[in-house]
Amino acid sequence: MSEAKPSEAAPAHDTTGPTKILLGLVIGAVLGLGLNLMFAGPGEPSPAYQNVLWVADRIANPIGQVFLRILFMVVVPLVFCSITLGVASLGNLDKLGRIGFRTISWFILTTGLAVALGLLMVNLIQPGKGIDPAQATKIRAQFQKAASEKMAQAEQGTGFSVDTFVNIIPRNVVRAAADDRETLGVIFFAILFGIAATMLPTERIKTFIDVLQTVYDLCVVILGFAMKLAPLGVAGLIFAVTAKLGFDVLVALLWYVLTALAGLVVHQFLVLGLLCWFLVRYSPLQFFVRARTAMITAFSTSSSNATLPTSIRTAVDMGVPPHIAGFVLPLGATMNMNGTALFEGVSVLFLAQVAGVELSLGSQVVVVVLAILTAIGAAGVPGGSLPLLALVLVQVGVPPDMLGLILGVDRIIDMTRTVPNVTSDLLCSLYVARREGVPLPDGTPTGTA
Ligand code: ASP
Repeated sequence: MSEAKPSEAAPAHDTTGPTKILLGLVIGAVLGLGLNLMFAGPGEPSPAYQNVLWVADRIANPIGQVFLRILFMVVVPLVFCSITLGVASLGNLDKLGRIGFRTISWFILTTGLAVALGLLMVNLIQPGKGIDPAQATKIRAQFQKAASEKMAQAEQGTGFSVDTFVNIIPRNVVRAAADDRETLGVIFFAILFGIAATMLPTERIKTFIDVLQTVYDLCVVILGFAMKLAPLGVAGLIFAVTAKLGFDVLVALLWYVLTALAGLVVHQFLVLGLLCWFLVRYSPLQFFVRARTAMITAFSTSSSNATLPTSIRTAVDMGVPPHIAGFVLPLGATMNMNGTALFEGVSVLFLAQVAGVELSLGSQVVVVVLAILTAIGAAGVPGGSLPLLALVLVQVGVPPDMLGLILGVDRIIDMTRTVPNVTSDLLCSLYVARREGVPLPDGTPTGTA
């Protein structure tokens, strides 16, 4: 069976190095924050702030959106081709079962660790106890509309139930491909396609495999176009966020934001670093250096899906065989969300503290389980987990409109939580490769630098 390879013929997207992208990130953030500080003022914004907003809305954000849309554009063909090719090249169901089992075990282990860490941090720091109730009510009123939209989405069945499992099987695969929340349906279809391909004689499916391989390679070339735009796109996205970010809201919720960010940073570098060392037997320093383009893309796009093309490329550059990267990473982008689970744990407990709802140890265990399940169900798009967070709040007796309190600062946490979401997927692909006996070269990065 032919192997899924982002072939040699496809030029890599790495002509633009991570340094330039990082530079874009820093310049965009400094400009945005600087202009916000200068003109948005602690009191009334100065008239010039309108111009800043105009630049953010009309110039910076559109540039960022072009970058983001090109990334999103290749996700469906890439997921379909990489999974079908990956499964087909495994050649048999035993191997699929083994890789699948290791992948899912990794997802559950790391997501569980992440929520537990989140809960530990909130119980230690108690960020909800210090918030001024009058100010909390004010902020909630400000975001009431957005909160009710998220609650309505939650009621529309993005929730987690028996149906969630049934719904993994798409009734109409084209519709599943058209809906961000149904990526699992596309994955399911692609896995079945791959399995079916292993059951036909090789000569019957050879052309089909070649076509998929070519489509895959073309996606990689298109990804190269997006990455050329990355420094500018990343600068635009971050500028638009930072120029608008309300500092008042940030200060009021400072302890909550700090608790969430601290938890995410500890998980990203300490927990995942330790797992990298002990389970993957790979130098954490090497790993983080090599994963930096994927990490920056995750941070600036707030989307696991949008980062998928970059993370597949990064994993392959690190020595993960394409059929493993092509199977593990799309599944991870949809199902494995460490940062999201940690964020949910922190947010539920924080909002319970503000609302004065005591959560017993038992309820906290419920939060852990629900956070793991909803992190699996969340879509890998910006804010994809918010409707599900509303559901968890309801389950443990916290009024869901409390969500309004944290929406104003969610973007910065969303950006940060997407980084461990993606990093854990990458590490999982290395772990599976290692367990399959693949030698992982530890030398200097070959492609991404
Ligand atoms: N933005 C996250 C991701 O794409 C999902 C979320 O937590 O809202 O991974």
